[in-house]
Amino acid sequence: MDINELVQTLPRASDEERALVVRAFEFAREAHQGQLRYSGEEYITHPLAVAQILASQRAEAKTIAAGLLHDVLEDVDGMSERLKKEFGPEVFFLVDGVTKLGELKYKGAERHAESLRKLFVAMAKDIRVILIRLADRLHNIRTLDYVPEEKKKRIAIETIDIYAPLANRLGMGELKEALEDGAFPYAYPEAYAITKNLLKLKKHETELRLEKMYRTLTQELTECAVPNFKIDSRVKGLYSLYKKLSRYNMDIEKIYDIIALRVLVPTIPDCYRTLGIIHALWKPAPERVKDYIATPKPNGYQSIHTSVFTGDGAVAEIQVRTYAMHHEAEYGVASHVGYEETGKTKQPWTLSHKLAWITELLKLQQEYEENEEFLENLRMDFFSDRIFVFTPKGDVVELPDGASVLDFAYAIHSDIGSHASGATVSGKYTALDHKLKSGDIVYIETKKSSRPSHKWLEYAKTSMARKHIRLAIQESGGKRKN
Ligand code: MN
Repeated sequence: MDINELVQTLPRASDEERALVVRAFEFAREAHQGQLRYSGEEYITHPLAVAQILASQRAEAKTIAAGLLHDVLEDVDGMSERLKKEFGPEVFFLVDGVTKLGELKYKGAERHAESLRKLFVAMAKDIRVILIRLADRLHNIRTLDYVPEEKKKRIAIETIDIYAPLANRLGMGELKEALEDGAFPYAYPEAYAITKNLLKLKKHETELRLEKMYRTLTQELTECAVPNFKIDSRVKGLYSLYKKLSRYNMDIEKIYDIIALRVLVPTIPDCYRTLGIIHALWKPAPERVKDYIATPKPNGYQSIHTSVFTGDGAVAEIQVRTYAMHHEAEYGVASHVGYEETGKTKQPWTLSHKLAWITELLKLQQEYEENEEFLENLRMDFFSDRIFVFTPKGDVVELPDGASVLDFAYAIHSDIGSHASGATVSGKYTALDHKLKSGDIVYIETKKSSRPSHKWLEYAKTSMARKHIRLAIQESGGKRKN
């Protein structure tokens, strides 16, 4: 794709914005004149590919322009001034931000943590810096074959550990999967080969079954006059299949969503009607209906998932969502940023909720003097697998996998945490160290006499809870110990 074709793919851009993108391209081409990539191609192919990825994520023109320019500042004197003059402060800010992130050094906890801090600080300032960074990384992963052997594995693992979870937290499902699946063969070659073979064994049979279901469902939805529906199927990403397989002893027979049918409909009532029609056709597997429309995931993901018995001994997953939810799930924040601006901040209000965790993280990280501790907390609080637990009122609380009743109590409020004495979890009385699982409904019991103790540090997993417990122990004159 050349730059003119790229510009044609920007549906929402004005003439002025299109011109900006073209100018950014010309500028970058000149700046990178004579430079080559490891592949031997001209360097400009890289920023152009990054811009394409950003465009495919529905990013706006300034982000795309900054994507084209993202590598021009490196090692060039006087370039900052030129860039500012040519493209204005906003585009300069983005390019400068990406440049300052530098290369993340995934060597040793110390420097790693430092790079991550930078990443999050930049993200809090303007999320678009991170979008460009993610697109940059995706193209680098796609061209990893040409990179020197000793660098490959490091870049690949870093992509899976840091960048893919970031994309996920930003609600960019498509990008997350592309990053993981691009990096998987380089990061874990053996696991990759095993997973690929298992999928091959199963894929054909699954496809045949889903084709049959597709025909049945199309007919039924048409007869029931569900308006404007669209059914497609999606094959589970290879890396995410591998992660699930490792939870099920590598037994592929236990994985029901290798391929899932996905039904898109215009409105939310259409979703529930469609779900009813599906359940009338095929019996749902018990406790496998997940309604993320009524209670969205914290990254904003909305959809209904159900697993049904297909009648031939198998179970298949079907997802139902509106077109708008689908767009949101694929592109996440990328498609909002920069389009709406509220007041002085660049983050539109719809985003602020989704990005609240970044601010929260930054607040917490200021309190860690030790990088290692910061890193550990980051792993735990933000990149680990998540569970979703409910208050008796039905509010959803997101916690890391392995979190306890005490973590939940502190997540509700520090006062509730500090005086927690026990809890009722889905109807049963439990102690504070009880491990929660997704779907639990938790009612915390408090007592005035209940106080944080050293023992509590063993129960709590989240940094939020641990911070409050330590503080309380200190204040009550107890000795500090980990
Ligand atoms: Mn780059």
